[in-house]
Amino acid sequence: MGIEEKYADYRSRYKGKNRIFASIIQKKMDFAFTVDVEDWYHGVELPFDSWERYERRLEKGLYPLLDLMAEYDAKGTFFILGWVAERYPEAVKRIAAGGHELGSHGMTHEKVYDLSPEAFRIEVRETKARVEDISGQAVSAHRSPYFSVTPRSLWALQILREEGYTLDCSISPVKTWRYGVSTSPDVPYYVPEADIVEFPLSTFAFLHKRPAVGGAYFRLLPYFFTRKGIRTRQVQNLPVMFYIHPWEYDPGHPRIPMERKARFTHYTRLSKTLANTRAMLKEFRFAGAGAVLQSYLKRQNLPHVPMERLARG
Ligand SMILES: [Zn+2]
Repeated sequence: MGIEEKYADYRSRYKGKNRIFASIIQKKMDFAFTVDVEDWYHGVELPFDSWERYERRLEKGLYPLLDLMAEYDAKGTFFILGWVAERYPEAVKRIAAGGHELGSHGMTHEKVYDLSPEAFRIEVRETKARVEDISGQAVSAHRSPYFSVTPRSLWALQILREEGYTLDCSISPVKTWRYGVSTSPDVPYYVPEADIVEFPLSTFAFLHKRPAVGGAYFRLLPYFFTRKGIRTRQVQNLPVMFYIHPWEYDPGHPRIPMERKARFTHYTRLSKTLANTRAMLKEFRFAGAGAVLQSYLKRQNLPHVPMERLARG
């Protein structure tokens, strides 16, 4: 289907419902769908040397998501964990065949601030090489596990650039118990010292909090709130960075005892993820982070945000 036909198809779906909204959306690609491709045991902080012992279930969550995205002709960026790429080359090929962008999620799912700069360099170098070998597609985007580029691990941005990455999606502009840079804008920006573009996680106002678009909030809150968050950002002309994991589409994955906060954000309302995603894809047109950035750059220069400002966050 050519691009014009896709627009026509999209318009026809909205015909009579909200023409103005449809006419805005067809010209721009502002919604980035991103997936951190890891298995369920990577998301619960189990030790690296134990991973081989657990039941492998990646496809149980990943394939229904890929099918759903194909149904709505949605594209995304899939940040692949290097460890997963080695064990699931067919899954990587299937993602690439679906027309999606591929990125790196590091090798061992260690938080960046717990790694030495040398170890981080090896992680991102190896993951890029693995994913490129398997897919035949260039990898230039990265997301760190647990959004772990924080004020104490900003050195990672320079290393990413040196290793051939031009886009990083590892910063949350809102602080949580695990991550966050409070001085980060929540729109894409350029970090001059590292010569890299950062496309941070998107947030929206909710009571006195700023939940993220995606992840645990996407399940914990009724979909209505994410929808409202996306619509609010759309009216303000701000792009959206949505993120999710394959295990969030697999409610049957094993339950592991863990700390209360982590257990709540990991396991609650997993059965809602697929239906919420369907509702979201029905209404909004999603693309990979690289494509969204290209579209955004046509109408907007990126603000420059110096490292010193991020370091204060
Ligand atoms: Zn992850």
